[in-house]
Amino acid sequence: MDIIRIIHYVSSNSNDTVLYALLGIFFIAPAVLSIIALIIVLIIYIPFKKYREFVLNHSIAIKNLTKLNSKYKFGHAPWKEYTKAYDNQDFYNDISTLDYLIYQLQYDQKEIKASIQKALNNKTLYAAYMKDVKEINKLGEYDAPIEKLNREKLIKVENKQFDRLIKTPDIDFKVKVVLVLTKINDAYVTSKTHSYSPEEISEIIKRLNQKRGNYYLNKEIWDAICRVERGKVTNKLRFYIYNRDHNRCRYCGSTRNLEVDHIIPISKGGKSTPDNLQTLCHKCNVKKGTDIY
Ligand SMILES: [Zn+2]
Repeated sequence: MDIIRIIHYVSSNSNDTVLYALLGIFFIAPAVLSIIALIIVLIIYIPFKKYREFVLNHSIAIKNLTKLNSKYKFGHAPWKEYTKAYDNQDFYNDISTLDYLIYQLQYDQKEIKASIQKALNNKTLYAAYMKDVKEINKLGEYDAPIEKLNREKLIKVENKQFDRLIKTPDIDFKVKVVLVLTKINDAYVTSKTHSYSPEEISEIIKRLNQKRGNYYLNKEIWDAICRVERGKVTNKLRFYIYNRDHNRCRYCGSTRNLEVDHIIPISKGGKSTPDNLQTLCHKCNVKKGTDIY
């Protein structure tokens, strides 16, 4: 934008020398530099491509590795990542990454358990695979004459391609939790991150499975879930609820000291969804307490 403005300015002052100088600096010089860079890349890349193709087509070691690779099938178990943005500082401070993980494991424990198992299987299989890979010991043997190619360079390229073709399955599984504090317009403020090992996750799942009806017997687990549920009332959602209820208390019609109330309280299993939220004034909210009405 600025360059164009400068050019407009210069041309309107009809000073051609300055205009051409600017054109040279901003347009021609970068173009010439890119062309030079491209030529250098081609000079290096074209011979390398010849070596790489020869190695991929004629290396005995790489052929053996490819055969091995088709024999070993690894499961897909990438790290799971949860990211949650908070636009309310109090909730952000109140909720830990562990709380958030506990909350999510209520819903995703089956999927996470399957990933943990896959990573474990991969680990066992990978040990056997690497043993077989180490037994391939024929670098520098080709099923075609190398002719004009440089043998040393060929082995170097072969080594690189061989390493590149060794499989790297997902053998470690973790769950990463990222909590982000933003402003109400989503601008980033700060964040906290933690990754959890299969052992930590399994321990939480065990405690999550100790429940009576909808309630978790372990107090720590239950408190974490309640904290996260409460934190789901973002400032955005809060304003939406006020707006929907015409900025009035649903009981007495007051327009002052409004709060968002959970109709079925969180401690009784209520969720932070619009159908379970209502606008109350502070007075009515205190009077309501944890009754459901
Ligand atoms: Zn009221």
